[in-house]
Amino acid sequence: MKALVCGAGGFIGSHLVERLKQKGYWVRGVDLKYPAFSATLADDFMIRDLRDNRGCDAALNKSFDEIYQLAADMGGAGYVFTGDNDFNIMSNSSLININIANKVKNLGTKLFFSSSACIYPEHNQDDPNNPDCRESHAYPAEPDSEYGWEKIFSERLYLSCQRNYGSDVRIARFHNIFGPNGTWQGGKEKAPAALCRKVAEAKDGGIIDIWGDGDQTRSFLYIDECLDGIERLMEHKDSFEPMNLGSDEMVTINKLAEMIIGISGKELSLNHISGPLGVRGRCSNNRLIQKNLDWQPNYSLYEGLEYTYKWINKQVQK
Ligand code: NAD
Repeated sequence: MKALVCGAGGFIGSHLVERLKQKGYWVRGVDLKYPAFSATLADDFMIRDLRDNRGCDAALNKSFDEIYQLAADMGGAGYVFTGDNDFNIMSNSSLININIANKVKNLGTKLFFSSSACIYPEHNQDDPNNPDCRESHAYPAEPDSEYGWEKIFSERLYLSCQRNYGSDVRIARFHNIFGPNGTWQGGKEKAPAALCRKVAEAKDGGIIDIWGDGDQTRSFLYIDECLDGIERLMEHKDSFEPMNLGSDEMVTINKLAEMIIGISGKELSLNHISGPLGVRGRCSNNRLIQKNLDWQPNYSLYEGLEYTYKWINKQVQK
């Protein structure tokens, strides 16, 4: 089997390349950059800009059995919710997806697209204790960020490719994927990595900053589980409407911080400050993926955080 992984220099893409290699695939990766924390395991790795048609032509200059489209301009709350990066997020990611959809529409290659929980309407996520992320509630659309609007546009782009050209498209809506080898500093890091970094940097007895009151809720999926879900979605004989791929273990951000502090063995207190926040509550609703793919996460959040904290602590000590 031959696979193309777009975004292979990123967090999930680099793990996906490793997984596909373990399964015996021949893999080409393409990205603006090489993976930041480990050498790529791809058989062939191209540095190309997928916003550029020529970059897409080069990436697709041979035939593949599967294409995984994960390339996107993305980041955590500090990148997505300030408003400062809205135009880049929308134009960069939609250019990538339009280019890729145009190239693959006549190829008949099975394509995976990584969408996001950020497509869900803001008003369904006002109550932190009962966020509603059922797939059927995606419309009428009202995402809380341009990142979410781009994802919902690109979902529809690939679904129309399927409808009009018979492409085999598989779409998962990821809910906060975390683990080792992810961005942990620089402004694009997400909550678990940012909190692991803050805890690792803090002196015993110190204080770490939390954006907002910390009562906002989220669920987080460990990277290995995400790869299992992608695999199951790609191997299924049928394609489905876009499905959530996440954990339904919902925690407050305060609780997440306390878990990481517990893992570190330090005594730290939380200092709540203002910062970009996103929706009040979000948690993966897994009814559809359980029914369609018989998939559910096996790791607890705590286990995933143990691996992640250990890795980020090592980076901080370096
Ligand atoms: P990431 O930022 O680590 O990886 C994305 C990769 O895309 C980066 O390596 C980046 O260099 C590459 N890229 C960006 N613009 C490009 C371009 N013009 N040409 C070629 N490559 C380009 O992000 P990730 O966490 O690995 O996420 C992978 C995918 O999953 C993204 O599409 C993201 O939107 C989606 N997603 C991730 C999460 C999560 O929690 N990590 C949640 C929901 C959705």
